[in-house]
Amino acid sequence: MHERKPFVGGNWKMNTNRTTSADLTRAVVDGLARVEGVEVAVYPPFPYLLAVRSILRDRSSSIRMGAQNAYHRPDGAYTGEISIEMLKDCGATTVLVGHSERRHVIGEQDELINAKVRAVLEAGLECVLCVGETIEEREAGHTDPVNQRQVRAGLADVPGDWVNRLVLAYEPVWAIGTGKTATPDDAQDVHRKLRQLVSGLYGPEIAARTRIIYGGSVKPSNAAELFAQPDIDGGLIGGASLKPEDFVGIVKAAATT
Ligand code: PEP
Repeated sequence: MHERKPFVGGNWKMNTNRTTSADLTRAVVDGLARVEGVEVAVYPPFPYLLAVRSILRDRSSSIRMGAQNAYHRPDGAYTGEISIEMLKDCGATTVLVGHSERRHVIGEQDELINAKVRAVLEAGLECVLCVGETIEEREAGHTDPVNQRQVRAGLADVPGDWVNRLVLAYEPVWAIGTGKTATPDDAQDVHRKLRQLVSGLYGPEIAARTRIIYGGSVKPSNAAELFAQPDIDGGLIGGASLKPEDFVGIVKAAATT
């Protein structure tokens, strides 16, 4: 039995528009109206945050809203970037940091990711720190060292009393948006080792409380088996979070594990 409340996040990436983001929000709120025992967050594109927030508020929904990225500097000459205070101002309570598309498409490195993790946690928001190995790293037998390096680097200089606002997301890069999913056993193995790492860094109590979620082509058909693993505490969902019935099915799978 998990003592940690499962967490399911819907990462909409650079999808939806003004109309479809609102429609998606309403459909997810309606679909989850009677589902309990899971913390749910949606991560819309920046321009739709305020509108999504207002729908969630109007419907008194417990679904949280977050941002897919943030910049760590408080303000100033950083053209095109969005500060954490701006996100708070728009109602975001959680931020994704180090998503594989930020690392591998945009080119973010461990040092910048660490600065973002610290800034998000220091601001009192929840940080979902994403880590994961590429297919080349996996085939070379480097899955564990890569994930451990990304977690250690991401959490450098993060004090233990901030870690209650941290969620770790293990997202093998080769599984994101590809339809390929890690087997429940393989994913569990990585999650167990990441929990051991958190224990080494912050002690067993914090490690036992820290949620470690899985991401990579999660669907209603594979969610229950993944979430049933002892160290998998929910999921970060990309493609399937754009289809309300799929996202609702995945959250329901987390509610029953
Ligand atoms: C993600 O964006 O974090 C993700 C896991 O995407 P997908 O579910 O589409 O693989």
